[in-house]
Amino acid sequence: MMAGGKSSAMFRPRTVGEAVEMLAAAHESGTAVALLGGGTDLVPALRSGERSAETVVALRRVLELRVRGAGADSLTIGAGVTYTDLDGWSLSPGLARAARVVGSVQIRNTGTVGGALGSARPGGDLLTFLTAADAEVLTVSPRGPERMPLPRFLADGLAPDALVTAVRLARPGGPQVYLKIGGRQAAYPAVVSCAVLVDRVRHRLTCAIGGVGLLPVRMGEAERYARDEVDWSTGTVSSSAARRFGDLVVEAAARVSPALPAGPRGSAEYRWHAAGVLAGRAFARCLHLTAPPVGEPARGSAAGGQP
Ligand SMILES: Cc1cc2nc3c(=O)[nH]c(=O)nc-3n(C[C@H](O)[C@H](O)[C@H](O)COP(=O)(O)OP(=O)(O)OC[C@H]3O[C@@H](n4cnc5c(N)ncnc54)[C@H](O)[C@@H]3O)c2cc1C
Repeated sequence: MMAGGKSSAMFRPRTVGEAVEMLAAAHESGTAVALLGGGTDLVPALRSGERSAETVVALRRVLELRVRGAGADSLTIGAGVTYTDLDGWSLSPGLARAARVVGSVQIRNTGTVGGALGSARPGGDLLTFLTAADAEVLTVSPRGPERMPLPRFLADGLAPDALVTAVRLARPGGPQVYLKIGGRQAAYPAVVSCAVLVDRVRHRLTCAIGGVGLLPVRMGEAERYARDEVDWSTGTVSSSAARRFGDLVVEAAARVSPALPAGPRGSAEYRWHAAGVLAGRAFARCLHLTAPPVGEPARGSAAGGQP
């Protein structure tokens, strides 16, 4: 493989154990090493010289990373599982939806869960969903396996001799909706994304927004509002509650620090506004709205994109 004009040595382990040994050997000898999942982010970065690696450890042949499974309470998704593998997965409809709206078919066929975590793009679709789902990240290194909450993984980063083996999340406890706004759907990650998950058993609603901070953020105040406002005996809520939920998300998005720097793909104000619109819509889709109080106008739709 060529990296910034130089070629890197490519290793193709067949087991997680072999991959860890290769990482450890590279780390000990001070060799710059990169893990290769589907290569949709890494290969362009190596070619452009944005990243360099003397050794590339390609994970595609590690079959144990390509497994998804369901336990009594949880779902485990291997780091080598692709977006296409997740599309249509009935055990996690929200995750399936987030995977379905990623990039183009080529990106979905090759991009992996491990790569999404490794890249940790601010607009990464899976990251937004997994943040709302309270996911845990499973890693392994020469020191053994470890599991940690997604926010800690994202804040601390991965040790140079470790790899992600899987993510784990709870089985759905109710409706899940994932919405995003993107410039050109097939070519770019989301400008703003929103995941809302309802847990009817625990009387809980979680909401994460991507694209307003450097990482997806949970909307704690809006979540608490939803918990108090939803009629959990029927799983319904008034349409004015959807508007208030959206407003709380706008206010929280504007307080996110550090904020994502303003870019060509939308001012900060646009992204806050879009976050509120997506959140209000996702909230309304998850919970069957009851009729709005008399005289109250219906919620307008203000954001473009394809939610
Ligand atoms: C044209 C285009 C459109 C895109 N559109 C979207 C979109 O709509 N939504 C979206 O979310 N993303 C999008 N992406 C980003 C990309 O597809 C994802 O980030 C993808 O999940 C990366 O996975 P990969 O397997 O290709 O990772 P790679 O490119 O192989 O690796 C990415 C990073 O993760 C590391 N890594 C890989 N596997 C592991 C592992 N098991 N453990 C630890 N680190 C690992 C690598 O070392 C590297 O640093 C797009 C990319 C392109 C090029």
